[in-house]
Amino acid sequence: MKKIETDVLIVGAGPVGLFCVFELGQLGLKSCLVDSLNEIGGQCTALYPEKPIYDIPAYTKISAKKLIEKLDSQIKPFKPTFLLDQTVECLMEKKEKFILKTSKNKLVNAKCIIIAAGNGVFGPNKPPLSNIEKFEGKSVFYSIPDKSIFKKKKVAIAGGGNSAADWAIELASTTKIIYFIHRRKNLRAAPNSVKELEKLEKKGKVKMVIPYQIDSLKGTNGLIDELVVRHLTDKTIHIKTDYLLPFFGLSSDLGPIKKWELKIDKNELTINQSTCETSRKGIFAVGDICTYPGKLKLILTGFSEAAIASQSCYKKIFPEKKLHFEYSTTKGINKL
Ligand code: FAD
Repeated sequence: MKKIETDVLIVGAGPVGLFCVFELGQLGLKSCLVDSLNEIGGQCTALYPEKPIYDIPAYTKISAKKLIEKLDSQIKPFKPTFLLDQTVECLMEKKEKFILKTSKNKLVNAKCIIIAAGNGVFGPNKPPLSNIEKFEGKSVFYSIPDKSIFKKKKVAIAGGGNSAADWAIELASTTKIIYFIHRRKNLRAAPNSVKELEKLEKKGKVKMVIPYQIDSLKGTNGLIDELVVRHLTDKTIHIKTDYLLPFFGLSSDLGPIKKWELKIDKNELTINQSTCETSRKGIFAVGDICTYPGKLKLILTGFSEAAIASQSCYKKIFPEKKLHFEYSTTKGINKL
């Protein structure tokens, strides 16, 4: 089987993994990215493509989808290899070089590894309904691929956290009605969002269905006719809705990375903040997956870690060479 040769294998093609390609490319290093999803962008693409992000430097506001498009075009000159829709499964080390095997049996030879795996191989927590798969992708969505489909429709949103509240607020201006379902009286969402929901309820745009939990879904051909919700007292309500959007968070599982003999603290990889190196030589971690005292799980923090990890990879690959720090304004784009 033909092996892919690369300087650095990046596990995860979320925003931080993508930016690693740029930083490595500027140092003349070639990257190969592997992601279990079939699209690049990590959480930005999978969970909130249409949501505006306000804390990306120099953008007053940019949608998560647009940010990924911009990162994709920024890394084009470096021609990274993408292995999508597959997880990195097996890791072997030979003479300080790594051989990785993906779930689609692709073999990659890499001099260093950067783990930018976010929350790990992730998937949404689903409501425990036996027939939910029949509706998924048609009238049940765990992320919003295209918010225009909800225009003038009845939408039930379930969950009590920020995602549920933010989406209810965002969609309420175009939907017919939002049913906001939560099993507890108090929401976990930010106090400002809760206030906003209360205002929307007064305007008749949102109906709070609290404290209720989803009991069953009825419908045909993947389309919902009726959603049944149950009160703690066992009383049920039948809600006529077109869509159900459950936002119950993500299940985060480090998956195969757990077996790589790395120091793990509560599902995150402990790194040396000054190099981004994990407890294993030549393996670095950046973005949401890494931890150190004071770590902020933000995209901009991840971008900075990408720069640090890339410099560390260079030093590991070329221990004899002196790395002259240069601004991009001085050297331009270092096309590979
Ligand atoms: P991720 O985006 O999680 O990407 C990791 C990728 O690695 C995933 O695609 C996963 O499939 C893949 N992967 C994992 N394990 C493997 C494996 N073994 N093999 C192959 N692939 C693997 N941050 C901000 O800075 N500002 C905001 O306003 C903001 N808003 C947010 C709103 C919401 C609703 C959410 C959920 C998050 C928000 N965040 C925000 C957080 C931000 O999205 C994350 O900090 C960011 O996505 C982390 O990027 P990452 O590249 O480290 O990981």
